[in-house]
Amino acid sequence: MYSIGVDIGGTKILAGIVSKNGEVLYKRKIPTPELGRDEILILLKEAILKMTEWANTETIPLEKIGIGTAGQVDFIKGVVLSGTTNIKDWGDVFLREEVEKYTHLPIYIDNDVNVLTLAEHQLGAAQGYKEVVCLALGTGVGGGVISNGALLRGAWGGAAELGHMTLDMNGEQCNCGMRGCLETYASGTWVAKRMENLMQLQNPSSGSSLPITSQQTFQLYHEGDAMAKQVVHTMITGLAHGVVNLIHTFNPQIIVLGGGVMENGQWIIELLQKKIQTIGLQSLINDVKIELSQMSTESGLIGAGMLGE
Ligand SMILES: [Zn+2]
Repeated sequence: MYSIGVDIGGTKILAGIVSKNGEVLYKRKIPTPELGRDEILILLKEAILKMTEWANTETIPLEKIGIGTAGQVDFIKGVVLSGTTNIKDWGDVFLREEVEKYTHLPIYIDNDVNVLTLAEHQLGAAQGYKEVVCLALGTGVGGGVISNGALLRGAWGGAAELGHMTLDMNGEQCNCGMRGCLETYASGTWVAKRMENLMQLQNPSSGSSLPITSQQTFQLYHEGDAMAKQVVHTMITGLAHGVVNLIHTFNPQIIVLGGGVMENGQWIIELLQKKIQTIGLQSLINDVKIELSQMSTESGLIGAGMLGE
C-alpha cells in the first residue's frame, strides 16, 4: 500500500506518492509565495486530487494521507492551532475537516519537525535507534523526540517544542514571548542577529553591508574573524546547554542535528561534543551519539507519508 505525503512549507507545497519504505513514486512541487490560508487550502486540494488521479491511472493502491505543516498541530483532532509567520492566517485551521471534504482516505496531520523526525528515524541518521532527539536549526529551532521507537506526542501532539526550552530566564526576548529560549542561541536568525549587532557596535557606519546570514557568519569564523568567534562561542555554549538538558531529560541514544544552520556543520558537532563533555552528567553524556541529519528536500513529504503507521 502507498500513502500521499504532503509537506506544507512557508514557500511551497510538496506532495508525493510514498511507498512504505520511503520511495517517492511521483511528486509535485507547488510554489506558494506569500499566500494566505484560503489560497493554500485550494492548492492543497488540487495537489491531493492530482496525486489521487495519478495513483488511479497507475493502479497504485492508496491507504492514507499524511500532511506535515509548520506550527502547533493537534495531531488527534487534525487541527493547526497556531501557525507560522510564513503563512498568513495559518492558525485554527481545521485541516482534517477540509481534506475530508474531497477524500475518503484516513488523514493524519502533524507538525513539520515531527514529520522530519519520522523520516530521520525510518531512513536517515537515526535509523535503528529507539531513543532519538532531533533538532532542526533553521529560522527557528524545531524539535522531535522518538521514545521507545515512536514519536513522543504528549496529550494532543504538542510535545517536543524543544526550541522554546528556557536556557536563561533573563536572556534575549524570543518571539514566543519568553526569554533566553534555545532558539535565541541556536537558530540561524539569532546567529545572524548577534553578528549584525557586533558589527554595528564596532562600526556604526557598516549598516550598508547588512544583513548577514548565519552561513556568512560561519565563513567569517573560519577566516578567523574575532566577532564571528564570539558569536559562534555563544551559539555553541547555548546549544550545548540545550543538548545537555535534552540528554538529561530523555536519555537518548542519538541526537540528530539538521536545518540550514547545520549545512556543512560537522565542525559544529565537534565543538558541541567538546563542550557537552565539560557541563553534563558524565553517566548520561558518555555514550550519546551526535550526528548530522541526512534529510533531503523530500524528507518532509516522505515523513508525512509515514504518519499513521
Ligand atoms: Zn521562545
